[in-house]
Amino acid sequence: MNSLLLTGGRVVDPANKFDAIADVLILEGKISAIGQKLSAPTGVKVFDAKGKIVAPGLIDLHVHLREPGQTAKENIATGTAAAARGGFTSVVCMPNTSPAIDSASTVAFIHECSAREGLVNVFVSGAITKGIAGEEMAPIGGLKNAGVVAITDDGHCVQNNDLMRRACEYANMFGLPVMDHCQDYSLVTDGVMHEGYWSTVLGLRGWPAAGEEAIVARNILLAELTGTKIHCQHLSAAGSVRLIREAKKRGVLISGEACPHHFTLTDAAVAGSEKFWAQDGKILAATQPGGLPQWPAYDTNFKMNPPLRTAADREAILEGLADGTIEILCSDHAPHCDYEKEVEFDYAPFGITGLETELALSLMQLVHTKRISLAELIAKYTVNPAKLLNLDKGTLSIGADADVTVFDAEAEWIFRRENSASKSKNNPFFGWRLKGQPAATIVGGKKVFVEQPELATV
Ligand SMILES: [Zn+2]
Repeated sequence: MNSLLLTGGRVVDPANKFDAIADVLILEGKISAIGQKLSAPTGVKVFDAKGKIVAPGLIDLHVHLREPGQTAKENIATGTAAAARGGFTSVVCMPNTSPAIDSASTVAFIHECSAREGLVNVFVSGAITKGIAGEEMAPIGGLKNAGVVAITDDGHCVQNNDLMRRACEYANMFGLPVMDHCQDYSLVTDGVMHEGYWSTVLGLRGWPAAGEEAIVARNILLAELTGTKIHCQHLSAAGSVRLIREAKKRGVLISGEACPHHFTLTDAAVAGSEKFWAQDGKILAATQPGGLPQWPAYDTNFKMNPPLRTAADREAILEGLADGTIEILCSDHAPHCDYEKEVEFDYAPFGITGLETELALSLMQLVHTKRISLAELIAKYTVNPAKLLNLDKGTLSIGADADVTVFDAEAEWIFRRENSASKSKNNPFFGWRLKGQPAATIVGGKKVFVEQPELATV
């Protein structure tokens, strides 16, 4: 049942530097052979991948599944269904649930629940501090024993530098990477969007880029001091990219990730679609020949943390992705209910869903614009996150788990609210024409999602 022959696709496996038209034979959940004209053993079904890309199963290391405690927004079943639909075979869930993932029993609960209800592999990140309150260290050794792959207080940021230092030292003892949502509370206070021209025009409180950059700089210093690998989450500001580029050159154990909304949109989008398309969206407008998607000013689906920033910041993130400063792509999939988002901008929660749009947006902004190669993009979604988190995933090596993503890099489709598998619909890209579409998501040799073209054609 967990066997399959994928024929005629372009197999791109950056971990093995493999890029050629080939067949992939999966037997009993493992990659069994890759080569020309493979034949299917009796009883093994054939999937025609001609014209499509066959990649190692994509990994998103920054996803909010909202379980336990916030299942009105999302749960493990719906969150992993959205992952499968987006082409992802593995996700790492964030610990800012209710209760927070700061104990071995909560980790065990998620492992059990995802084994029962999850469509894709769910890896768990544990909290740095108890209750993500930033005051007292969580039991990091116990979390490691329970199977977490990293620690982070994502959604929050440990402000006390000494506490962060000690947490890094503990994490290092247990071989765990530390991931950090970089936000200096004293600089950001109650900012709701990027501090700049548009926050002034719109009369909204600003969240300055320095509020992120200060903590990125802090993390570089602590990575040097403690020898612990620190990974800076969802980078949004040019200064953060510059700091990480310089630190990596010196060999500091620091890394970063970027999300498609930060390298596609800008803060002008908060002023409404007209302002966005007329200014920062000019180049992107060409990708929307059927008409430009419309949205009003103060649309809370453009409110996220960190916020959308300027066109110069967007360009810096794209450059950081192109020159290898930023090695990892992810969504920061952050579902919220309609009733929570349908309030004044100030009162809406931060965050948007992203699992179903990130592959297409990344292809559009990075590969179709020729900033990076297809193999480089796939590496940022497979071998690079696997390496950071020491996961035995992200490759099509013989004998590896048969997690495979098949996608059409050229297919155009329109992302529609009714076709989203997530429980929440807080996404700014509904109505957008996207280029690049998952065709099949295969986890352990089993197809967990197959695109039905009639559902999502242009
Ligand atoms: Zn975050």
